[in-house]
Amino acid sequence: VSAPKSTYRITLLPGDGIGPEISAATVRALEAAGSKFDIAFDISEGLIGGAAIDATGSPWPDETLESCRGADSILLAAIGGPKWDANPRELRPESGLLAMRRDLGLFANLRPAKAVPQLLDASSLKREVIEGVDLMVVRELTGDVYFGEPKGTRREEGTTVAFNNMIYSEPEIERIARVAFDVARQRGKKVCSIDKANVLDVSQLWRDVVTRVRDDEATDIELSHMYVDNAAMQLVRWPKQFDTIVCGNLFGDILSDEASMLVGSLGMLPSASLGDPANPGVFEPIHGSAPDIAGQDIANPLAMILSAAMMCRYDLKHPALADALEAAVEKVLDSGLRTKDIIDPDDPDFSLVGCDEMGRAVA
Ligand code: ATP
Ligand code: MG
Repeated sequence: VSAPKSTYRITLLPGDGIGPEISAATVRALEAAGSKFDIAFDISEGLIGGAAIDATGSPWPDETLESCRGADSILLAAIGGPKWDANPRELRPESGLLAMRRDLGLFANLRPAKAVPQLLDASSLKREVIEGVDLMVVRELTGDVYFGEPKGTRREEGTTVAFNNMIYSEPEIERIARVAFDVARQRGKKVCSIDKANVLDVSQLWRDVVTRVRDDEATDIELSHMYVDNAAMQLVRWPKQFDTIVCGNLFGDILSDEASMLVGSLGMLPSASLGDPANPGVFEPIHGSAPDIAGQDIANPLAMILSAAMMCRYDLKHPALADALEAAVEKVLDSGLRTKDIIDPDDPDFSLVGCDEMGRAVA
């Protein structure tokens, strides 16, 4: 194991809407955490999404790609907004996001769902079900029914038929399985692989390959398998049974949204997208650019700050830095500070703060 670096190069992509506000709060918190460990961040800002379209005519300028390729890691806030919604597809902010994932080879999406003790009442689920939930969904991002060829529609016997193909190759399954085992090693050392192997051939391959990778490379990890319909039920029935969940693109799309809602507010949920371990990953909140509240200093920066913590853990491989950021977020919540989206208006013990003040408090 090489010694940790003392300076990390970060490309920061503030994007649109509340992006710049939550980015400023996050940089403040990240730099404060770094200074505790004598770590400096060399941060370059890049353009993406609507802001990039306005400045350069492209949602994913070459300059931004170059900056990302040279970075240790990438922090993204959020992109998009009504201003660009009527643009042709290649001039929409979302196209920038897809191009980024493609160019950086990001094939694994990580979404944690961790109950926030201070916000348990915000969940619509029972307290005893939610309390102590701490799971991670590892979703494959570049294969499956979204990309399988052939796809399309055809006329058949006087009617229209549409079709998509659920396709996975052994190498695609191997690499996502490795990510999942790696993630589990830094957590509870338990992986549950989700499939529909009782019905789908592609799922049988998925199950066989995940099992083989575990037996060959990850015997320290406990592996179980679950059918996706059962997993959807178990996630709301007793989510504490899960540590790390690994699944294909389609099942992961559904299960990661389901899992994230176990813990309540959108403003609290981070995510990571990873590719080849030699390349930088992208860390971003799961929420969008929230154009309805942009520029008002009321957005919650905690999802992006927790994304920066994931960056420290999974890309910079500095768990102490990640722990420090996460502990600071907990402490701030314990002290009663709340942005508008997570405040309980009936409880006088909480104080309402803006985005900037929340960032300062965490720092
Ligand atoms: P996208 O399509 O980019 O995912 P979306 O249309 O799903 O975006 P968001 O931008 O995530 O929507 O916003 C959904 C709602 O949640 C909005 O009312 C927004 O103001 C609110 N919201 C989102 N993020 C935050 C945040 N960090 N702090 C406070 N409120 C937020
Ligand atoms: Mg959305």
